[in-house]
Amino acid sequence: MHAEIVVTGTELLLGEIVDTNSTMIARMLRDIGLDLYYKSTVGDNRQRMATVLSIALDRSDVVLVSGGLGPTVDDVTREAVSDATRRPLVFRQDLLDQIAARFARFGRPMTENNRRQAYVPHGAIVIENPVGTAPAFIVEDDRGAVICLPGVPRELEYLMIRRVIPYLKGRMGETSVIKAKVLRTCVIGESQIDALIGDLMTGGNPTVGLAAHSGQVDIRITAKAVDEVSALQLIAPVEAELRARLGHAIYGQGTQKLGEVVARLLNEQGMTLSVIDNVTQGEVAGRLRDTPHPAVLSSEESLTEKSLLTPASHAGPDRAQDLAGQLASQARDKAGASLGLSLFSLVERGGGGQPMAYLALSDGLQVVTRSYQFPQSELRVGAASKLARRWTSIRALDLVRRYLIGALDEAIG
Ligand code: ATP
Repeated sequence: MHAEIVVTGTELLLGEIVDTNSTMIARMLRDIGLDLYYKSTVGDNRQRMATVLSIALDRSDVVLVSGGLGPTVDDVTREAVSDATRRPLVFRQDLLDQIAARFARFGRPMTENNRRQAYVPHGAIVIENPVGTAPAFIVEDDRGAVICLPGVPRELEYLMIRRVIPYLKGRMGETSVIKAKVLRTCVIGESQIDALIGDLMTGGNPTVGLAAHSGQVDIRITAKAVDEVSALQLIAPVEAELRARLGHAIYGQGTQKLGEVVARLLNEQGMTLSVIDNVTQGEVAGRLRDTPHPAVLSSEESLTEKSLLTPASHAGPDRAQDLAGQLASQARDKAGASLGLSLFSLVERGGGGQPMAYLALSDGLQVVTRSYQFPQSELRVGAASKLARRWTSIRALDLVRRYLIGALDEAIG
């Protein structure tokens, strides 16, 4: 059994409001393990809506419709369902009584157009709506069930939880749940991950998929089972295999951010960090501060391009690495911090060289340096692009993380 969502409303097509209803419905369907295959948006037009509903009924067992149940002439969901299922609209006195009672409770007069809301397609199962005036309804057609819900998110949520989900569970017979676990990696690229775990991505249950963001790749393991415990049992061995293959390229899980993980490690080890950064415009420090338990940053300085690049660019890459190390040590010593981190970028002048970023971390005993190229296009007139800043800040944070967990030299694969 699989479902489809049809959200209605011309204002959605015009971009005037954001569709949050389908996200809400999708999450609830996921939680009961009902597969969702399609989602469509259609304006308040009877004919087009009927066409969309008819297509949906041809290919899906359950169609959930949001909106268009109000009393005005542009609320055409009732008529469109009637057309798509070839069931005439019938007047239901019990519905009108419910609507009238609701108006009476709020001391408001019921207008004539509210009568429209007392019409439903012949044979429809009515879902009383105690939180609004628009009654919802279900039509069980030969091709599948159409479930029509009000567009107001609060009303839709109320009816989904109390009426629709129990109805769907009953229709599904055996219930199942879908559980997902996300492992977060950084620095390692999507194609490298693919080469290492590609064989695990062809399984049916659980499925393994990748989502790449700049500098980071998420690996999502999704399992479907009769209950949560069984789904987690399906996920566990796949997760263990992924961790064995990717090692410390996995820095966290769920919604954890890299800065948060590094800040936690620094705090756990009672360490402070001082950063000299002329690449990321404060992004490294920002990521370490912008967490529930910010890291202690003893000082932050930003060196100008001139003061750094002049000596380095004349002296070649080795000298640049040395300079990065010296800066990291200076940062640490000057602030009296446990660790000093330096980041700078340069383009070798005159030689048409690639822009380089240099990173160094000093703990007073040893200095670890890293350097890498970024594309020419990412460093214009001495300033790193947003992408280059992001990449560099992720690499710098990962350097600190790997130092703190003793995984600086770990080979992957
Ligand atoms: P009403 O009885 O209020 O007329 P209705 O069933 O006719 O309800 P709509 O008129 O389509 O629903 O939508 C009512 C309001 O609900 C919209 O003005 C909008 O603010 C909100 N809404 C509708 N659809 C969505 C959606 N997909 N996502 C988020 N909000 C929505």
